[in-house]
Amino acid sequence: ATPTALLVGTGRGSQLGILIRGPQVPEQTRRVDTIVLDKTGTVTSGAMSITEVHPAAGVTRGDVLSTAAAVEAASEHPVARAVAAAVPSGTAEVDAFASHAGYGVQGVVDGSAVVCGRPSWLREQWSVPIPPDTAALLAELETRGTVVAVARDGSYAGAIVVADTIKPTSAEAVARFRALGLEPVLLTGDNAVTARRVADEVGIATVHAGVSPAEKLDVVRGLRAEGRVVAMVGDGVNDAAALAAADLGLAMGGGTDAAIAASDITIVSGDLRVVADAIRLARRTLGTIK
Ligand code: ADP
Ligand code: MG
Repeated sequence: ATPTALLVGTGRGSQLGILIRGPQVPEQTRRVDTIVLDKTGTVTSGAMSITEVHPAAGVTRGDVLSTAAAVEAASEHPVARAVAAAVPSGTAEVDAFASHAGYGVQGVVDGSAVVCGRPSWLREQWSVPIPPDTAALLAELETRGTVVAVARDGSYAGAIVVADTIKPTSAEAVARFRALGLEPVLLTGDNAVTARRVADEVGIATVHAGVSPAEKLDVVRGLRAEGRVVAMVGDGVNDAAALAAADLGLAMGGGTDAAIAASDITIVSGDLRVVADAIRLARRTLGTIK
């Protein structure tokens, strides 16, 4: 289904900025006891910016940035938008572009094969050799943000750190989830240190970090197998399978079409507090937010 297939509620739901697929709020909205939250773009703003650039020996800072930006310009991921914005004058053309949800991107720039993404993905999936001192640097960088490692023609070319900010409404939203008796869980493809920092700041105890889109799906399935009734909130292509598998899928309004299409409800504003409002309202009414 496309976003236009969503029914725009006419009463209370639409006032709150809640778009529901179909005529009724799904019955399970009232029974939800666990709320799984994607990090980037859901708990955080998703408006990332570059905080550090670390070129490899023999590579210039400008080189790492322009190489990565050329490939990332073809991606809509928040990480990609931050990197592409570093070269405002426009980027070189990219051929054979491919995006790997939850990992990174690849393409050919000026005849060179370029891969940008999670350091572990470059090492394991692309067999990019990473010397021990570089590995130590990358581990340190992961304490400060999301690390985009860059390789050109199979060689490590440098790393770019990007970071974003937690939405000012997220901590209050988590407090509301708790007040409703919901257990919040943070689920992210990002590294464990960054994930833990965000979780601590908004008051979430349980964190699953470094998970692929398929593993996000596994986490949701696992919670359901424990007998929980699971709501999942996400915005990315990487969240779509997990959103579809949850008892209740909620997409952030500013998110990707894939996330919106996989969800039962779209929160227009991207304000997580509205998710709590929707669940509270559903518990009070007979399943129809009118
Ligand atoms: P999240 O679960 O926080 O929304 P994703 O699953 O979309 O994050 O991505 C997981 C990780 O994969 C990111 O933190 C980043 O390290 C890497 N990644 C994803 N897309 C890209 C991209 N376009 N460029 C570089 N790295 C990426
Ligand atoms: Mg996201």
